[in-house]
Amino acid sequence: MAVNAAYVVDFDGTITSGDLSSELASYFGGNIYLEIENKYRRREMSIRDWLHQIGQLLPPDLNLLLEKSLEWVVIRPGFQSFLDHAQNQNSPVIVASDGFGFYIEPVLKKYGFLDQINCIYRNETTVSKSGKLEVTCPHKHRVCTVCGNCKAAHVIEIKKGGKPVIYIGDGSNDRFGASWSDHICARDKLAERCREFNFDYSPWYDFYDIIKIEKPELKDCSESSLCCPQGSGIKSLAL
Ligand SMILES: [Mg+2]
Repeated sequence: MAVNAAYVVDFDGTITSGDLSSELASYFGGNIYLEIENKYRRREMSIRDWLHQIGQLLPPDLNLLLEKSLEWVVIRPGFQSFLDHAQNQNSPVIVASDGFGFYIEPVLKKYGFLDQINCIYRNETTVSKSGKLEVTCPHKHRVCTVCGNCKAAHVIEIKKGGKPVIYIGDGSNDRFGASWSDHICARDKLAERCREFNFDYSPWYDFYDIIKIEKPELKDCSESSLCCPQGSGIKSLAL
Protein backbone atom coordinates (compact mmCIF):
# COMPACT_ATOMS: atom_id res chain seq x y z
CA MET A 1 0.00 0.00 0.00
CA ALA A 2 1.37 3.42 -0.88
CA VAL A 3 2.54 5.57 2.01
CA ASN A 4 0.40 8.65 2.49
CA ALA A 5 1.97 11.65 0.89
CA ALA A 6 2.87 14.88 2.62
CA TYR A 7 1.72 18.13 1.08
CA VAL A 8 4.16 21.02 0.86
CA VAL A 9 2.09 24.10 0.16
CA ASP A 10 3.21 27.59 -0.79
CA PHE A 11 1.29 30.40 0.91
CA ASP A 12 0.96 33.58 -1.18
CA GLY A 13 -0.96 33.01 -4.41
CA THR A 14 -1.55 29.40 -3.42
CA ILE A 15 -3.45 29.25 -0.12
CA THR A 16 -4.38 32.89 -0.76
CA SER A 17 -5.67 34.13 -4.11
CA GLY A 18 -3.42 37.20 -4.05
CA ASP A 19 0.17 37.72 -2.93
CA LEU A 20 0.12 39.68 0.33
CA SER A 21 3.84 40.51 0.23
CA SER A 22 3.46 42.00 -3.25
CA GLU A 23 0.21 43.75 -2.35
CA LEU A 24 1.83 45.41 0.67
CA ALA A 25 4.86 46.41 -1.41
CA SER A 26 2.68 47.76 -4.20
CA TYR A 27 0.48 49.75 -1.79
CA PHE A 28 3.37 51.33 0.10
CA GLY A 29 6.08 51.28 -2.57
CA GLY A 30 4.25 52.36 -5.75
CA ASN A 31 6.50 52.78 -8.79
CA ILE A 32 9.68 51.76 -7.00
CA TYR A 33 8.03 48.44 -6.24
CA LEU A 34 7.12 48.01 -9.93
CA GLU A 35 10.75 48.54 -10.96
CA ILE A 36 11.92 45.89 -8.48
CA GLU A 37 9.12 43.52 -9.46
CA ASN A 38 9.94 43.84 -13.17
CA LYS A 39 13.59 43.04 -12.47
CA TYR A 40 12.52 39.94 -10.56
CA ARG A 41 10.12 38.87 -13.34
CA ARG A 42 12.95 39.19 -15.88
CA ARG A 43 14.96 36.90 -13.54
CA GLU A 44 17.60 39.59 -13.04
CA MET A 45 17.14 39.42 -9.28
CA SER A 46 16.85 36.57 -6.79
CA ILE A 47 13.80 36.17 -4.57
CA ARG A 48 15.97 36.86 -1.53
CA ASP A 49 17.16 40.20 -2.96
CA TRP A 50 13.56 40.99 -3.95
CA LEU A 51 12.44 40.32 -0.41
CA HIS A 52 15.08 42.55 1.16
CA GLN A 53 14.58 45.38 -1.34
CA ILE A 54 10.80 45.50 -1.15
CA GLY A 55 11.06 45.19 2.64
CA GLN A 56 12.68 48.64 2.57
CA LEU A 57 9.51 50.05 0.98
CA LEU A 58 7.24 49.12 3.88
CA PRO A 59 6.58 51.28 6.94
CA PRO A 60 8.20 49.79 10.08
CA ASP A 61 4.82 49.24 11.70
CA LEU A 62 3.88 45.56 11.97
CA ASN A 63 0.45 46.32 13.46
CA LEU A 64 -0.45 48.41 10.41
CA LEU A 65 0.98 45.81 8.00
CA LEU A 66 -0.92 43.02 9.69
CA GLU A 67 -4.14 45.05 9.71
CA LYS A 68 -3.83 45.55 5.93
CA SER A 69 -2.97 41.88 5.39
CA LEU A 70 -6.02 40.66 7.29
CA GLU A 71 -8.22 43.19 5.50
CA TRP A 72 -7.05 42.21 1.99
CA VAL A 73 -6.53 38.48 2.26
CA VAL A 74 -8.70 36.15 0.15
CA ILE A 75 -8.47 32.38 0.70
CA ARG A 76 -8.50 30.20 -2.41
CA PRO A 77 -11.67 28.06 -2.68
CA GLY A 78 -11.58 24.54 -1.28
CA PHE A 79 -8.78 25.03 1.24
CA GLN A 80 -10.85 23.87 4.23
CA SER A 81 -12.00 20.79 2.30
CA PHE A 82 -8.39 20.10 1.31
CA LEU A 83 -7.26 20.28 4.97
CA ASP A 84 -10.06 17.89 5.99
CA HIS A 85 -9.08 15.54 3.15
CA ALA A 86 -5.41 15.60 4.21
CA GLN A 87 -6.34 14.97 7.84
CA ASN A 88 -8.62 12.07 6.92
CA GLN A 89 -5.83 10.33 5.01
CA ASN A 90 -3.15 11.16 7.62
CA SER A 91 -1.23 13.35 5.23
CA PRO A 92 0.73 16.15 6.90
CA VAL A 93 0.34 19.65 5.49
CA ILE A 94 3.50 21.76 5.55
CA VAL A 95 3.37 25.44 4.59
CA ALA A 96 6.55 26.86 3.04
CA SER A 97 6.63 30.55 2.20
CA ASP A 98 9.25 32.94 0.83
CA GLY A 99 7.26 36.11 1.54
CA PHE A 100 7.42 38.41 4.58
CA GLY A 101 5.84 35.66 6.63
CA PHE A 102 4.54 37.62 9.63
CA TYR A 103 0.91 37.42 8.46
CA ILE A 104 0.79 33.65 7.86
CA GLU A 105 -0.24 32.41 11.32
CA PRO A 106 -2.70 35.30 11.88
CA VAL A 107 -4.37 34.62 8.51
CA LEU A 108 -4.57 30.87 9.15
CA LYS A 109 -5.92 31.54 12.62
CA LYS A 110 -8.51 34.03 11.37
CA TYR A 111 -10.07 31.34 9.18
CA GLY A 112 -9.65 28.49 11.69
CA PHE A 113 -7.03 26.61 9.63
CA LEU A 114 -4.04 26.80 11.95
CA ASP A 115 -4.74 23.62 13.95
CA GLN A 116 -4.76 21.54 10.77
CA ILE A 117 -1.33 22.71 9.60
CA ASN A 118 1.54 20.48 10.76
CA CYS A 119 4.44 22.84 10.21
CA ILE A 120 5.19 26.30 8.84
CA TYR A 121 8.55 27.29 7.33
CA ARG A 122 8.69 31.02 6.70
CA ASN A 123 10.85 34.13 6.83
CA GLU A 124 10.83 36.52 9.81
CA THR A 125 9.92 40.18 9.61
CA THR A 126 10.65 42.32 12.65
CA VAL A 127 11.19 45.95 13.62
CA SER A 128 14.65 46.61 15.05
CA LYS A 129 15.36 48.74 18.11
CA SER A 130 16.40 51.53 15.77
CA GLY A 131 12.95 51.38 14.14
CA LYS A 132 13.88 49.67 10.87
CA LEU A 133 11.89 46.86 9.27
CA GLU A 134 14.14 43.82 8.95
CA VAL A 135 13.52 40.61 7.01
CA THR A 136 15.57 37.59 8.06
CA CYS A 137 15.65 34.13 6.52
CA PRO A 138 16.18 31.40 9.13
CA HIS A 139 15.71 28.65 6.52
CA LYS A 140 18.13 29.97 3.89
CA HIS A 141 20.77 27.73 2.33
CA ARG A 142 24.25 28.03 3.84
CA VAL A 143 25.87 29.25 0.59
CA CYS A 144 23.24 29.56 -2.15
CA THR A 145 21.84 33.12 -2.24
CA VAL A 146 18.81 32.58 -4.48
CA CYS A 147 15.95 31.75 -2.10
CA GLY A 148 15.14 33.21 1.30
CA ASN A 149 13.47 29.99 2.39
CA CYS A 150 15.09 26.85 0.93
CA LYS A 151 11.90 24.94 0.12
CA ALA A 152 13.84 22.20 -1.64
CA ALA A 153 15.59 21.39 1.65
CA HIS A 154 12.21 20.95 3.37
CA VAL A 155 11.00 18.64 0.58
CA ILE A 156 14.15 16.52 0.86
CA GLU A 157 13.85 16.25 4.66
CA ILE A 158 10.27 15.01 4.38
CA LYS A 159 11.23 12.47 1.71
CA LYS A 160 14.09 11.23 3.90
CA GLY A 161 11.42 10.47 6.49
CA GLY A 162 9.83 8.11 3.95
CA LYS A 163 6.88 10.14 2.71
CA PRO A 164 6.36 11.13 -0.91
CA VAL A 165 5.76 14.86 -1.35
CA ILE A 166 3.05 16.54 -3.35
CA TYR A 167 4.14 20.13 -3.98
CA ILE A 168 1.44 22.77 -4.47
CA GLY A 169 2.46 26.19 -5.71
CA ASP A 170 1.98 29.08 -8.09
CA GLY A 171 5.21 31.08 -8.24
CA SER A 172 8.31 30.98 -10.42
CA ASN A 173 10.45 30.47 -7.34
CA ASP A 174 8.48 27.36 -6.37
CA ARG A 175 10.33 25.54 -9.16
CA PHE A 176 13.20 24.62 -6.84
CA GLY A 177 11.16 22.88 -4.15
CA ALA A 178 8.80 21.43 -6.75
CA SER A 179 11.70 19.92 -8.70
CA TRP A 180 12.46 17.68 -5.70
CA SER A 181 8.88 16.60 -5.10
CA ASP A 182 7.16 13.43 -6.27
CA HIS A 183 4.22 15.20 -7.82
CA ILE A 184 3.85 18.87 -8.77
CA CYS A 185 0.56 20.75 -8.68
CA ALA A 186 1.26 23.96 -10.55
CA ARG A 187 -0.61 27.03 -11.67
CA ASP A 188 0.46 30.40 -13.08
CA LYS A 189 4.24 31.01 -13.13
CA LEU A 190 5.09 27.62 -11.64
CA ALA A 191 3.18 25.95 -14.49
CA GLU A 192 5.21 28.04 -16.97
CA ARG A 193 8.45 26.96 -15.31
CA CYS A 194 7.35 23.30 -15.34
CA ARG A 195 6.82 23.52 -19.09
CA GLU A 196 10.16 25.29 -19.51
CA PHE A 197 12.05 22.58 -17.60
CA ASN A 198 9.92 19.68 -18.91
CA PHE A 199 8.50 18.68 -15.54
CA ASP A 200 5.25 16.75 -15.46
CA TYR A 201 2.63 18.58 -13.39
CA SER A 202 -1.04 18.64 -12.56
CA PRO A 203 -2.62 21.98 -13.42
CA TRP A 204 -4.91 23.24 -10.70
CA TYR A 205 -7.29 26.12 -10.20
CA ASP A 206 -8.49 25.62 -6.64
CA PHE A 207 -8.04 23.11 -3.81
CA TYR A 208 -10.92 20.93 -5.01
CA ASP A 209 -8.60 20.00 -7.91
CA ILE A 210 -5.87 18.95 -5.47
CA ILE A 211 -8.19 16.59 -3.59
CA LYS A 212 -8.71 14.57 -6.79
CA ILE A 213 -4.97 13.84 -7.29
CA GLU A 214 -3.72 10.32 -6.70
CA LYS A 215 -1.00 9.74 -4.10
CA PRO A 216 2.43 9.34 -5.73
CA GLU A 217 5.15 6.82 -4.99
CA LEU A 218 8.57 8.05 -3.83
CA LYS A 219 10.66 9.31 -6.74
CA ASP A 220 14.39 10.05 -6.98
CA CYS A 221 14.70 13.60 -8.32
CA SER A 222 18.43 14.14 -7.89
CA GLU A 223 19.08 14.10 -11.65
CA SER A 224 16.28 16.39 -12.78
CA SER A 225 16.12 18.74 -9.79
CA LEU A 226 17.02 22.40 -10.26
CA CYS A 227 19.17 22.75 -7.16
CA CYS A 228 21.25 20.80 -4.62
CA PRO A 229 20.24 21.87 -1.12
CA GLN A 230 22.69 19.37 0.36
CA GLY A 231 25.48 20.74 -1.83
CA SER A 232 26.16 24.16 -3.30
CA GLY A 233 22.54 25.14 -3.99
CA ILE A 234 21.27 26.24 -7.38
CA LYS A 235 22.29 24.54 -10.63
CA SER A 236 23.30 27.11 -13.24
CA LEU A 237 20.73 26.00 -15.83
CA ALA A 238 17.90 26.67 -13.39
CA LEU A 239 18.24 30.47 -13.34
MG1 LIG B 1 3.26 31.90 -4.28
